[in-house]
Amino acid sequence: MNYWKRIIKGRASYYIVAALIIISWVIIGMRVRLLASDAIVDGENEVYAYKHSNTLNITDSGLLWLVNLQNPLDSDFVPSNLVSHQGIRLQAPAFAAYNQMLAAMKADGIQGLQLASAYRPYVYQRDLFTTKVNTLKSQGHNPEAAIELAAQVLQRPGASEHQTGLALDVTVAGDLTEDFGKTAAGKWIEENSHRFGFIIRYPQSKTEITHIIYEPWHLRYVGLPHATIMFENNLTLEEYAGFIAETGNYIIWTEPRGSREFYLVIHSDEWPQTIHDRLIDISSVCPGGGGGYILTMRGMYITY
Ligand code: ZN
Repeated sequence: MNYWKRIIKGRASYYIVAALIIISWVIIGMRVRLLASDAIVDGENEVYAYKHSNTLNITDSGLLWLVNLQNPLDSDFVPSNLVSHQGIRLQAPAFAAYNQMLAAMKADGIQGLQLASAYRPYVYQRDLFTTKVNTLKSQGHNPEAAIELAAQVLQRPGASEHQTGLALDVTVAGDLTEDFGKTAAGKWIEENSHRFGFIIRYPQSKTEITHIIYEPWHLRYVGLPHATIMFENNLTLEEYAGFIAETGNYIIWTEPRGSREFYLVIHSDEWPQTIHDRLIDISSVCPGGGGGYILTMRGMYITY
């Protein structure tokens, strides 16, 4: 798991600056305990509440949230910043990015992309799953077998990342099939959606990691720079978020190349207020897999 060796970009002097930042962050992190940090530990709604406080200028929250069968969402989780367009709901930053992507596609001469589905509440998935199980039972399967079979074609309640309000299904023909990947829109999305913060969440080559069939129509908003890092390194969210959530792992990313601006993506057990105040903007916070947070911080290389 040496992804960071491939991912880290930039000159050696940049590493030194970044290393100093990390070292000071570790030292500061051990000494600073914010009362507010408890509010974040407790759950997803508190993360969103924190986002709207003036203490830190966090622009995005929960973008790297890994949701799957092993990491389901609570039944009462509802994103706080959903916006609606023609009955389809998405988190506001994801919707804005989708509209930008749509405009860029049109500028490249590709028309007809439609949003088929986005945010789905827990109860929607629960009812869908229950209906499927009941149908299978009525066909003669015993209850355990019916649940097993239903889970092969549907996400269990809580395990669908549509509940995050960050996932969307797109189509040109109305159907959600593998053939979408072969259309002009599908190919464009495969190559370009990362520039707008989207990943193809269930790629063809990673089904043994995601445990989900190839779904070229299902996009997940993770924001920048994450989508581009994952695209260029061929990483799923399981691999990327999992790597960072391991204590001690981090990613430094400069984009565009040669820019003095960099991102530091890091796992933190504590809330590094002081480094935010002095050095770096925290632009995103997300719960880490085994506790703590995944922080995305934006800074500038300082040269003397
Ligand atoms: Zn989907």
